[in-house]
Amino acid sequence: MEDGYASFMMELKIALKTTPKYIKILAAEWIVTVKDFLQYFPRAYEDRSSIRNLNELIFNEKGITATKGKILKKSIFMRWWRRIYNISFVDPVGNKGQITIFNSGFLASKIHEDKRYIIVGKPTMKMNKITFSHPDVVETEAPEDPNAALEDKVEIKENYNTGRIFPIYPELMGIKPGRFAQKMRLLMDKIDTIFSEYLPQEFIEKFWLMGVQETIKEMHYPTSFDQQKQANLRIFFDRLLRIQLYSLMNRNDYQQNKTKTGGEIIDWEIIKNIVTTLPFELTMAQKKVIKHITENIHEPKPMLRLLQWDVGSGKTVVAAASAYYTHKKFWGQSVFLAPLEVLANQHYKTLAKLLLPLWLRVELLTWSVPKSQKDKIKQDLLEGRIHTLIWTHAVIQDDVVFNNLQFVVIDEQHKFWVKQRAFFKKFWAPHILQMSATPIPRSMALAFFGEFDVSIIDEMPLGRKPIITKVISEKEYIKLKPRILDHIRKGQKVFIVTPLIEESEKLEEVKAATTEFEEAKALFPELKGKIGLLHGKMRSKDKDAVMQDFKSWKICLLVSTTVIEVGVDIPEATIMVIKNAERFGLSQLHQLRGRIGRADIQSYCFLETKSKAWDIGKRLKAMEETNDGFKLAELDLQNRGAGEILGTMQSWESDIPLEILSDLKFLEKIQEGAKRLLEKYPKLEWLPGLKKYLEEKMGDVLA
Ligand code: ADP
Ligand code: MG
Repeated sequence: MEDGYASFMMELKIALKTTPKYIKILAAEWIVTVKDFLQYFPRAYEDRSSIRNLNELIFNEKGITATKGKILKKSIFMRWWRRIYNISFVDPVGNKGQITIFNSGFLASKIHEDKRYIIVGKPTMKMNKITFSHPDVVETEAPEDPNAALEDKVEIKENYNTGRIFPIYPELMGIKPGRFAQKMRLLMDKIDTIFSEYLPQEFIEKFWLMGVQETIKEMHYPTSFDQQKQANLRIFFDRLLRIQLYSLMNRNDYQQNKTKTGGEIIDWEIIKNIVTTLPFELTMAQKKVIKHITENIHEPKPMLRLLQWDVGSGKTVVAAASAYYTHKKFWGQSVFLAPLEVLANQHYKTLAKLLLPLWLRVELLTWSVPKSQKDKIKQDLLEGRIHTLIWTHAVIQDDVVFNNLQFVVIDEQHKFWVKQRAFFKKFWAPHILQMSATPIPRSMALAFFGEFDVSIIDEMPLGRKPIITKVISEKEYIKLKPRILDHIRKGQKVFIVTPLIEESEKLEEVKAATTEFEEAKALFPELKGKIGLLHGKMRSKDKDAVMQDFKSWKICLLVSTTVIEVGVDIPEATIMVIKNAERFGLSQLHQLRGRIGRADIQSYCFLETKSKAWDIGKRLKAMEETNDGFKLAELDLQNRGAGEILGTMQSWESDIPLEILSDLKFLEKIQEGAKRLLEKYPKLEWLPGLKKYLEEKMGDVLA
């Protein structure tokens, strides 16, 4: 390890009066300096200010009392046909007490011998024993670690363990929460010398923020829960501020460029032209967004707009109308980026059908286009003979040069923005329309996509038949067989989706998918040779081939992991079975479900789950009740936190608490703060962590 690190670690070792082993464990988690250590925050707090030992209990009290005890012995006996549990425990100073429970096996089953619990109830004396009948019990998360003090030879004389709000740290490779608490205590009076305020004073006052030093102290040993909450707010304010600053700097950087389309008067006739050729009437929502985009195109700064629509709401045609406008009004070129070849092919068909009759030349550039043709396309792009290009990002290459690129559509994807923007900036910073694949609640869009103007519209084209969704058991899945075969006989197609397993477990994903594939083959011998398999480990070439087969009827039942999540249009797909649906978030289920129901045939989505847990059933039921992606995203945010929604996009910063991510006002305040800071201090190098943060994030995005 580097010298710098070694000396930091030595310093930390001395400050913590601890062993090299302990320091090594910390180092593995990038906790190297005292400062790092002080930023290892508790994951919860235990209110010990009101917990009493048994000898301190006050009887005949009306109120409820809490005590803490380690369970010694659990016994059960019968009296008058009633089951009685007698559970003895010992408090931290050695007093003994007991818990009695009548008949409730459930309550008793939550209590285990040798574990520690906070016991809340009304104590009485029974046969000379302090007894709690049917108390509330909460397993306490910070067992004292009696060996810790000995091992480290630390002397702490004051009693900081009780009579206060006590921090509970995440356990780290065998380092117990209590040990962290003890070590942290040693450092409390060093905080003032280690941390100093970095935000301008006026800023702190304007946004009512707690100072940095106080924040760190309150995070570890809060003086009250209110203070702890303020400290927490400060921590997340800072993190979200960095994200905002990053977004705004990106936006400013891109918008420094002047567009070639600014200034002139809007020609609405052009829009009318294309709208009248459509085989359907645009929804109000579509019209409104087309109007916004057209106005943006006429501004001197390049547009950065995020189009947030539900699946199947008709985003493509909006983008197409704008591409057409750019061409007619400014002789500008457009490019549509799609993440997969199948999707690019699909866009190509849609756009060619729309734009060719209007005399625009549409071309497709993907990896499978032969070299000679590629060269021809490149040449024609350079000379301005191609007006709209459909392109897969996989092939973004520096040797593609546009003649007059003015409009970029990025469809159904979440990453690579920075890289793509850097690429397109070379061509006079065209307008960018980013089309999101997942509805994100407004507050979250503000938190994470601050550089975009956001259009959120949730109106569906008329005449869509909402997908009928049903939560089913494993048995009911088997019973679906005749129905599935019936659909296939009628020329329809079926998806069977298995849960995506964490990225680190790609092999598991393959295993799960393959098992499901074998099971499907066994269950449907009638479909021999017509069952396909798609998973994330396959090369994109092979994935594309499978999707093509599914489109072209070679396959009529596709077993897949979530890789079908992108906007692939298989209009004949009318049944989707999602296995082990409880493993997915609602947003993701909704995304998956959006792959069916794309035509006017009634479609069905079956959510199979083996779980009988009440809350899981309730969560999945929401899928039966609504087809509104935004509503489901909100529910996800409430139930499982932001990671659920961001998970499909990016994993960074997904641990920001839900109260904050759904607090639109707070987030607006942060954005306002970021704008002020940037106006006053455009460079911001002094903001600690910003540089590192930017590098990390850029690294992630560029990876
Ligand atoms: P997404 O928003 O998921 O990308 P698409 O753009 O692929 O959705 O549109 C889904 C389907 O809806 C397409 O077949 C498209 O032609 C059709 N569509 C779009 N707008 C309308 C409308 N206003 N009325 C009827 N059908 C529409
Ligand atoms: Mg789409």
